[in-house]
Amino acid sequence: DSKPRSVGGSSKLCVYVRKRPLSKKELAAKGYDVITCTQSTQLLCHEPKLKVDMSESLENHSFAFDGVFDETDDNDVIYKSSVGPLIPSLVQSHGILTVFAYGQTGSGKTYTMKSVYRQAAADLFAQLVALNRPVIVGVSFYDIYKNGVCDLLNQRKKVQALEDNEGVVQLLGLTEVPTTSGTMLMDLVERGEASRITSINGVHDDSSRSHAILRVTLYSGKPANGQMGTVEARLSMVDLAGSERACETQTDDKSTRMEGAEINKSLLALKECIRAMDIGAKHLPFRQSKLTQILRDSFMCETSRTVMIATVSPCSEHSNHTLNTLRYADRLK
Ligand code: ADP
Ligand code: MG
Repeated sequence: DSKPRSVGGSSKLCVYVRKRPLSKKELAAKGYDVITCTQSTQLLCHEPKLKVDMSESLENHSFAFDGVFDETDDNDVIYKSSVGPLIPSLVQSHGILTVFAYGQTGSGKTYTMKSVYRQAAADLFAQLVALNRPVIVGVSFYDIYKNGVCDLLNQRKKVQALEDNEGVVQLLGLTEVPTTSGTMLMDLVERGEASRITSINGVHDDSSRSHAILRVTLYSGKPANGQMGTVEARLSMVDLAGSERACETQTDDKSTRMEGAEINKSLLALKECIRAMDIGAKHLPFRQSKLTQILRDSFMCETSRTVMIATVSPCSEHSNHTLNTLRYADRLK
């Protein structure tokens, strides 16, 4: 039961799926494509099934979203059909826009989000200049790992997340850089990504276990109380932890199991908060995870809009995780 939604229209939530190309490695391992985008909003996932006689057959699962993109759709097409149309209202009227990338590790979350960062920043600064709007743009980049918040622009320094009197979580001491161009913003992204992948527990490239959030805030008025002014609008772009990590709850390694449980909890809380927001529910279960607590305003605010981009691998080898991702995205609607 997919409701038609107009891009840049009035719906609070838009859900997209992006399929990446088969990699050389997958092709070499005789992997084959199990995803067919049948229409601009529909796709089929052909799940390989072993029959009793050990031959393989395919079971088809059909899904509909606000848009589906295949390996022929580049970053430009995806941005222009999803996030791009929402930037003008963010710049012109006060609001909150939150973009999520959800999917298995290796499915293209970071690839997609980096292009969203770049294009959204370019649009944002161009539109601010065109409107001659005197706002300060503050940029922060942090990640959430096992309930802790780390400052990616300050050597992964721990940041305290404290709830204020209004129930809003403040990230105390988080670096926020006044930024004046898209190029400057991308330099910050590069700096943050470098510290993201070099060390969680000193393990190289463990970025699949944390949620990374690039936060761009528009401030008006005069700086006061250590703030750059009054928050006018906010764009949060979230590169979520690998969704397959949420399944790692049965392994012998205690630390991996705990991480898996935490990631599972936050992805479930996220799903529930997005659903509650979309149907206009009075109570949002945002307290169920650090991620949803910190992003509370993304679900509560009257003017908030959410874009979910679920990324999937086309490869037969990953069809289980791909189906899980498609089902998660499907249940948000
Ligand atoms: P994730 O962040 O979900 O773990 P990545 O974004 O790092 O995945 O993507 C994994 C690999 O696949 C990278 O080498 C990336 O460049 C490549 N890739 C992902 N999506 C695409 C795409 N749509 N087109 C071409 N290459 C892609
Ligand atoms: Mg990544």
